[in-house]
Amino acid sequence: MNAWFIAGCNPALNHAQSSNPMGTPTRLVDSFGRRHDNLRISVTDRCNIRCFFCMPEDDPVFVQKSEILTFEEIERFVRVAARLGIRKLRLTGGEPLVRRDLHVLVRKLAAVPGISDLALTTNGLLLADRAAPLREAGLGRVTVHLDTLDPAKFRQITRRDGLERVLEGIFACRRLGYPSVKLNAVAVRGLSEDDLVPLARFGREHGIEVRFIEYMPLDADGKWRRDSVLLAADILDILSREVAPLIPALDQDARAPAARFVFSDGVGGVGIIASVSRPFCGSCNRLRLTADGKLRYCLFALEETDVKGPLRSGGTDEELERLIEGCVGAKWEGHEINTARFVQPPRPMYAIGG
Ligand code: SAM
Ligand code: SF4
Repeated sequence: MNAWFIAGCNPALNHAQSSNPMGTPTRLVDSFGRRHDNLRISVTDRCNIRCFFCMPEDDPVFVQKSEILTFEEIERFVRVAARLGIRKLRLTGGEPLVRRDLHVLVRKLAAVPGISDLALTTNGLLLADRAAPLREAGLGRVTVHLDTLDPAKFRQITRRDGLERVLEGIFACRRLGYPSVKLNAVAVRGLSEDDLVPLARFGREHGIEVRFIEYMPLDADGKWRRDSVLLAADILDILSREVAPLIPALDQDARAPAARFVFSDGVGGVGIIASVSRPFCGSCNRLRLTADGKLRYCLFALEETDVKGPLRSGGTDEELERLIEGCVGAKWEGHEINTARFVQPPRPMYAIGG
């Protein structure tokens, strides 16, 4: 029997708590009782590689640079959001490290009252040199996207070279003592099976949690098919058979998207983000700000709230508060990937911010 079923470990069954662990009143509770304290901020839609499940190979459409929020605009938005109850921030993109001087933004955000957690998701290519100034500026946690340890496969997936540089970035973060360094690997059926074991062993060897993410329908080319998802249950079966049996971790965070498993020999574990086969919408606590200043209540949302307009045309903090609350109030129950009603959002992953 698979570890999912042994544990009954389905984060979707863990409904959001209405109390705030920080003891701060929050106004960001949606109509399903989910409390929002987590904001993912895309700082650019540009990227230095071209992963096939995210970007088109040729001619990606990017927003004009003048439409991208400035660091000052992002900081102001975060100050208002933090007053409403946002506590955790994650910088993403596109590739956030192609935004020059990202550490300047990190320093500003780390100083915002109420923000207790500041994290980065990166493809790691530019990380080796940037890890130190980012850490010094107040960055807490880093997640590096790495789908394979095979250089040829890396090129096949990203349509670029660079595996060595990603590894250098990961080791730089370890040396600098980042409190958390994790890996994200997208799991695609017919492609990723051979990478699961090497990645899990790499994680065990270096004390790094690898999180496998089911391939989601957010690719720019619209090629996603249900049968191209390597499902969580299959990932767990392969790793349990070929590395060591996996058992659900005792210290699960009910509101985190990843379900965590530990190897039964006591050496490390993995996270599984089963967005397709086991959606965790019931405990979702996230909002997303796109690089061009649109607020979204879901990766798969078909509507957005413009906040760049008010930020650039003298809107007051109270107006921004109303927009954020309105976005939370409009939040749907969950994505509809597993229904006939599903419509892929017009923006691919790189344009939303993963
Ligand atoms: N460029 C950075 C990176 O690759 O980590 C940050 C942005 S990227 C869009 C954020 C994360 O989205 C990546 O770590 C990757 O694992 C994940 N991702 C991208 N496309 C995906 C897809 N179609 N399905 C599932 N995860 C995806
Ligand atoms: Fe770039 Fe990240 Fe998208 Fe890959 S997943 S193309 S690294 S934004």
